[in-house]
Amino acid sequence: MLSEHRERSSTARVIPPARPRKLAKVPFVELADGRLQGVVSSGSDVERVYVSSVAAGNYEFACSTNNNRPCGGAYGAFCKHIRSLISEAVVQYGAERVGRYLKVDGEDAQSITAAMDLTSPAQGGNTAAAPVFSRFLHHLAYLELAPTTAPLPEMQWFPPTRAVV
Ligand SMILES: [Zn+2]
Repeated sequence: MLSEHRERSSTARVIPPARPRKLAKVPFVELADGRLQGVVSSGSDVERVYVSSVAAGNYEFACSTNNNRPCGGAYGAFCKHIRSLISEAVVQYGAERVGRYLKVDGEDAQSITAAMDLTSPAQGGNTAAAPVFSRFLHHLAYLELAPTTAPLPEMQWFPPTRAVV
């Protein structure tokens, strides 16, 4: 079953954005480049996602949309997207690994977030947003192979040069 799906994926696929499908709250999370970073879906708009990150050590954070608009909630403190990102990271990697990576003590997502909150972390530029978002799109392409995962209207997110008509 799986190999059959893999084979089919080798050809370019065009997915008509038939109807908006629900996106997982945090469809992509990684511990990479000295950061916890990932993609968080907007609560209100199915076509909008946020690229959020927290740096290990100093907890500098950043959040902006996939269209590079700054997140309105990320001023002076973690926004809800970053909080969701931390929660999902703990689900996927476990609190110990997330805490070790970020260099923060905490036995669950709540205490890890609270410990970082206490340091009043600074907001940084979201320079990693483009590569993170690009990895997310690749990640989506893999997810599509899984029969249980509903594909997204992802073609809408590709830059115009990648659009296939
Ligand atoms: Zn945000």
